[in-house]
This record gives sequence, structure tokens and C-alpha cells, in this order.
Amino acid sequence: MIYGLTGGIGSGKTTVSKILRDKGFIVLDADEIGKEVTAKGEPLLRMLVKEFGVDIIQEDGELDRRKLANLTFGDREKTNRLNELVQTAILCRAIGQFHKLSLTEPRKVMFFDVPLLYEAGWDRYMEQVWLVTAPEDVRIERVEVRDGLSEEEIRQRIRLQMSEEEKSQRADVIIENDGGMAKLMSQVEKAIAENL
Ligand code: ATP
Repeated sequence: MIYGLTGGIGSGKTTVSKILRDKGFIVLDADEIGKEVTAKGEPLLRMLVKEFGVDIIQEDGELDRRKLANLTFGDREKTNRLNELVQTAILCRAIGQFHKLSLTEPRKVMFFDVPLLYEAGWDRYMEQVWLVTAPEDVRIERVEVRDGLSEEEIRQRIRLQMSEEEKSQRADVIIENDGGMAKLMSQVEKAIAENL
């Protein structure tokens, strides 16, 4: 059984993933799988070359992420095509890994940490979706400290994501991460007790 774990930038998904792993749950990370599927020699690179040209590959065979980002920046059609190709590769790889894991852990709930889960429409593949949420000001403050980005840069990124209201309406479980670590831990324990 696959449960989705999502939340906006700075909400605390990675922190919740860590708590769940410490409690013995398997959590796959879509961003990590994204790095795997775009590594040198991966079949996805051939599809990206077909779509965006051979210049996106460096001399050493690695993907030139900056060039690819520059090529697609501000072009909705290209961005959609890129997202579609990369997301499909991530989903295929993740489903394969979950399937393999379920052979040894047949009844165990496994989590899939996907920052843009609703935006990608992957909620339809999840048994449940757990949303980690926090007030925008708290999220901005956390990301300012963590990544050294400006408030305006973070607000821009937030505007590209689905609103918290919409995600909250759709989620099966809401984990409020508006306090410290002790409060977050008790929220996660409550979610586990009530849903698993
Ligand atoms: P992103 O989508 O931007 O990667 P995220 O949702 O994975 O973010 P985290 O990386 O888990 O968020 O959290 C953002 C920052 O806030 C981290 O530095 C984390 O340590 C800190 N943080 C998260 N929750 C708490 C909390 N309850 N108390 C204190 N610090 C927290």
C-alpha cells in the first residue's frame, strides 16, 4: 500500500519523512529518484535529447541541468513536456521499487514523498495522501534559513505551487507543522495511530 506524502516548499515533508523512517517505515523520495532517472546513461536522457537537442548533454555524458533549465524557462509548452517526460520516468521507477519492496513486506504501508504530488495528478495512485502544512510566513522563514533565498524568491516559488487551501481540501490527513519538533512528532504519531 502506497501512501503519498506532500506539502509546499518549507512545510516539513523531509522532516516528516525522517520521522517515518526512524519509526521503521519505508519512504521513497521522488526528488532522489529524479536524480537517478536523469543520471548519465539513463534511457530518459535519450528522450530529452530528442525533445530538446543534443546540447543538453555535457562532454562527460552527464545532463547539463542548467542548459536544460534555460532552454525551457518561461516556455509553458516546453516546461510541460519536460515535466511530463521526467515525471513519467520517476513514476515508473518508483512503482517498480515499491513493487519489489512489497514482495518482502507485503502488508506494510510505504510512503512516497512527492513535493508536487497534486500538481502531477499522482494522488490517484495513492491509497491516502498525507499533507504537511504550515503558515506561509513560517515556511518562508524556514527556507530563508535553510537555503539562503530571499523572501521574494520563496514567494515566487510558492505561487507556482497549488494553494494550501486546495491541497488541504483534497488531503486525507493533515499534519500541521506550525510549532517545534515535539509538536510535529506528536502530530505524526497521531496520524499513524488514526490511519494505519
Ligand atoms: P522543501 O519542499 O522546500 O524541500 P520540505 O517540505 O522538505 O521543504 P523540510 O526540509 O523538512 O521541508 O523543512 C524545512 C526546514 O525547516 C528544514 O531546515 C527543517 O529542519 C526545518 N523544520 C521543519 N519542521 C520544523 C519544526 N517543526 N521545528 C523546527 N524546524 C523545522
